[in-house]
Amino acid sequence: MSDELRDLYQEVILDHGRHPRNHRHPEDPTHHARGDNPMCGDRVEVFLTLRDGVIADAAFEGRGCAISVASASMMTELVAGKTPEAAEALFRGFQALCTGADHTHLPDVDASDMERLEVMSGVRQFPMRVKCATLAWHTLSAAMAGADRASSETDGGKS
Ligand code: ZN
Repeated sequence: MSDELRDLYQEVILDHGRHPRNHRHPEDPTHHARGDNPMCGDRVEVFLTLRDGVIADAAFEGRGCAISVASASMMTELVAGKTPEAAEALFRGFQALCTGADHTHLPDVDASDMERLEVMSGVRQFPMRVKCATLAWHTLSAAMAGADRASSETDGGKS
């Protein structure tokens, strides 16, 4: 990647980190879960409103490093309007992206969504950061599954 592109990508992450989208507590979410990443001190709570089989609204609250907040912000934008299955598929794609695994042949993953998530792929060089980037997604997954808390399954160190 050129330096120019890398700067641009950081710009996107910084923008989401400073001005997170959907950073609010909805009045009547149907699903929610909390997640935390003690390695970095990131905490997030994800709120979903499922209606007619799709995620009608996704929002989050929490605080943490720029990567964790930016990732949560981007996630809420990307999963809105999707079925839980499609959101779960995108989570698998994002996990693969963050850990450097091949994500080009995963089923049911929207290529343009993956393109937008590509900005986060720099975390694969930093296993600690992978946890920051995937925290919101683990929490989303837990919320959709009806769990109150995200499992503390580890993403880091799979190099
Ligand atoms: Zn973090």
